[in-house]
Order: sequence, then C-alpha cells, then structure tokens
Amino acid sequence: MESLRHWHLYSKTFDKYGDQIAQCVKAAHRNGLEVHVWKVNWNLSHAPEDFIQKMRKAGRTQVSPTGEPIDWLCPSHPDNFRLELDSLLEIVRKYEVDGLHLDYIRYPSSEGCYCDGCRERFSRDTGKAVKNWPSDVITGTRREEYLNWRCEQITRLVRAVHEQARKLRKGLKLSAAVFSNYPACREQVGQD
Ligand SMILES: [Zn+2]
Repeated sequence: MESLRHWHLYSKTFDKYGDQIAQCVKAAHRNGLEVHVWKVNWNLSHAPEDFIQKMRKAGRTQVSPTGEPIDWLCPSHPDNFRLELDSLLEIVRKYEVDGLHLDYIRYPSSEGCYCDGCRERFSRDTGKAVKNWPSDVITGTRREEYLNWRCEQITRLVRAVHEQARKLRKGLKLSAAVFSNYPACREQVGQD
C-alpha cells in the first residue's frame, strides 16, 4: 500500500491477502501456466452501491428508451471509455500477464443506451441533430445509423486495447466473451 490516504482504492481482498494478480502470475509462471486477466467491462451489477449512485448522478450510466436508469456504464461517455481503457492497460503495465479477457464487452440488451449524452454525441458524430429522441433512432429513419454508431462505441474500446496493450507487451493475447448469434447481436447488444 502506497499510503493510508489511498486505502479505499483497494478491495477488502487486497487488504487481507495482498495483491492477487501479482501472486497469481508468480505461482502460474512458476508452473508453466499462462495468466489471462478476466475483466468485467461496463457492467455495474456487482459494483458497490455508492459507486453506482455516483456514476448515475454524473450521467455516466445507461438509460432505457422510457428514461429508466440501467446499472451499466454508457460506453459513449468519454470518462467511461477512459476508465475501462486505463484499467486494462494498467494491468499490462504492472503485471507480466499473458493475456486479457474482455467480458461484458457489449450493451446489456437492446434497451440501452438512450441517455442525453448519447443523443448529444450521436448528433455530434453524425453532424445531424435528432429531432425526436429516442423514437427516431429506435423505430424511425435514423435506426440503421444509430445501430452502427452504437456498435462503434464498443468496437472502439476493443480497438484501443488491441493497439495500446500490444504496444506495451508484444504478443499479448486478447480474448473476449462474445454472443454467437451474429449479426443479430449487433442490434441486440451492440457487439459486432
Ligand atoms: Zn448513453
């Protein structure tokens, strides 16, 4: 631990048993095994309640077509993109891991995301404001465009990890938990 001031950044498991990735890498490599770190992306279902509330307040969580909050980070939000990318790269920087495994690298369902931020960023990226939000992008004339843009919010993280993590460690293996029903998964969960 660097200082007491930062104690809250560590999990209870870390406090009790120490750095689990470091110990895992050491034990596995001693026995000729590879270590691939499994990372839950975007999905907040096991996140601490105060963190979820904080993210929701900051407009960083997803919103359904009817305005209901969804406990899943919005992938188009730049701070969320940064958070996911930085935490994945931090693993490669700090540990001699052999691979990264991306889980939940998608939207939760077809319900997300229709937050105000997505409206803004979609309009900005396409250079054209959405008149009726969100109906225009769900059943209206801009549906196809939105589905493609939504997939890109996921793909751009995979692309960034691929480029930057492999720059840090040549030959690093990347894998992902993916849906098998292509191309329906593009429309359902934004996974291309
Ligand atoms: Zn959103």
